[in-house]
Amino acid sequence: MANKMKRTKYIFVVGGVMSGVGKGITTSSIGKILQSRGLSVTALKIDPYINVDAGTMNPTEHGEVFVLSDGYETDQDMGNYERFLNIELDRGNYMTTGLVYKTVIERERNLEYGGKCVQVVPDIPIEVIRRIRKAAKKVSADVAIIEIGGTAGEYENVLFLEAVRMMKIESPGDVITVMVSYLPTPSTVGEMKTKPTQHAVHLLNSAGIQPEIIVARADRPLDEKRKEKIAMFCSVRKEDVISAPDVESIYDVPLNFEKDCLSDILLAKLGLKGKKQNGSLREWERSVKRIHSATKEVRIGIVGKYFKTGDFVLSDAYISVIEAIKHAACAVDCKAVLTWIDSTEFEQDPEKLASLRQYDGIIIPGGFGSRGIEGKISVIRYCRENKIPYLGLCYGMQLAVIEYARNILGLQDAHTTEVNENTPYPVVDIMPQQKENMLKKNYGATMRLGQYKAKIVPNTIAHEAYGANSVLERHRHRYEVNPKYVEKLKKAGLVFSATSPDGVLMEIAELPKKKHPFFLASQFHPEFQSSLLSPNPLFLAFLEVCKKNRK
Ligand code: GLN
Repeated sequence: MANKMKRTKYIFVVGGVMSGVGKGITTSSIGKILQSRGLSVTALKIDPYINVDAGTMNPTEHGEVFVLSDGYETDQDMGNYERFLNIELDRGNYMTTGLVYKTVIERERNLEYGGKCVQVVPDIPIEVIRRIRKAAKKVSADVAIIEIGGTAGEYENVLFLEAVRMMKIESPGDVITVMVSYLPTPSTVGEMKTKPTQHAVHLLNSAGIQPEIIVARADRPLDEKRKEKIAMFCSVRKEDVISAPDVESIYDVPLNFEKDCLSDILLAKLGLKGKKQNGSLREWERSVKRIHSATKEVRIGIVGKYFKTGDFVLSDAYISVIEAIKHAACAVDCKAVLTWIDSTEFEQDPEKLASLRQYDGIIIPGGFGSRGIEGKISVIRYCRENKIPYLGLCYGMQLAVIEYARNILGLQDAHTTEVNENTPYPVVDIMPQQKENMLKKNYGATMRLGQYKAKIVPNTIAHEAYGANSVLERHRHRYEVNPKYVEKLKKAGLVFSATSPDGVLMEIAELPKKKHPFFLASQFHPEFQSSLLSPNPLFLAFLEVCKKNRK
């Protein structure tokens, strides 16, 4: 619905006190409840890093690199927006400090500033505002929600806050700010403290911004006294302080927000007339109820190389995989219990492989490099030989092909040239274009990235799962199944059930159902396209079998 006269409203989401308390889920949930009022919504993420995109960041430190359909490598929050809002975002919805500076510097080099002195202020915030408005206009959004990384008071995001302040001066009625703050309850005091939030608001004030709404994150709901205190000392109305206690499932959050009438508050502040709740939250609510009431447990083992820094980091590095499992589990009325398994354990002690029998299914997700690889290959072999349902994602597919080549074709030492350049049987090899990039040491955004079409072979598990002859899924890899080995692998019984449209690149490998209950692995990352209301078909097919297979 292109409407040139449409006036977009902007909601900025900023953090206070500390990071990691759910700005991304808040942003996504605000979008969800506004959608349910009949508004068209888009979401943007601003990361204050110098990195131009997230592609070169280490997932174990920064969390997963989420790939958009246009191939842009972004922050995991973009995945949350897509999953909650069921919309497709593109590179225009993401920016970093590095990207903004890069654009301004390039423009200066092209004489686009007409000889004037280009300054950090106002030229950097002006570029930020230009990008925000452009992204909103592109999809003709009623509301654009923009999450600013970091917290108030940090040096790094000052120029983005300056953009908020400037936008608000330009169009005061169109811009509001939501602060997501944290209220600790120190165990020695036993009482929830509002002081850090008061300080955070004062820091935001010193950047020239007064938040209209405060989302109060805490381990428990906010009581009246605390609401009053925040209202009084942070200059907001009491009803604009939203209680956001910890929840069992992130998908509870939009429903909780509506308990505090947040969409009504937002509409009133932005001067928008939304429709009555249009029922789309009801479907969501039904799914959320299913998440809570599911009693049948399916036990899924996720095998990778992991740094022993606790589950928090792990779940951030594989968030799309975890969410895709949860979506599919919800659809088959089960509760997925995930166990992280370090593949190096099996290298030290192969006897341990027998412990895999306790799982209803095993997943090997994407990865890079050589650590833990032999362990993963022996896990795949064990799953194949012992008929444990197996789902491989990207590296998990390449390693399945290597395992098959070694143990069925008898090509000892078959490998990927990523790990062993001199393997006699390079069954997984680098693509020529990628080789050039590697020689030039050009690593940023040089993989096969983003959405590509795959053609699906009839009468296969993949075809049954997708119910279609082709599918668009997202990629992020440098290496491919080597076309030279495809015929041999096929003859030995491996089924390539999806390929690139020209048939050259292998997209899915599987074993026929009569040989194995579920053995399927994809070169693409199906986890990047899954949501609560439409789980990814491959995860769904896998979870159905895991459910049947329950121990
Ligand atoms: N390391 C492999 C490649 O680059 C797989 C990548 C991945 O799993 N995302 O091709």
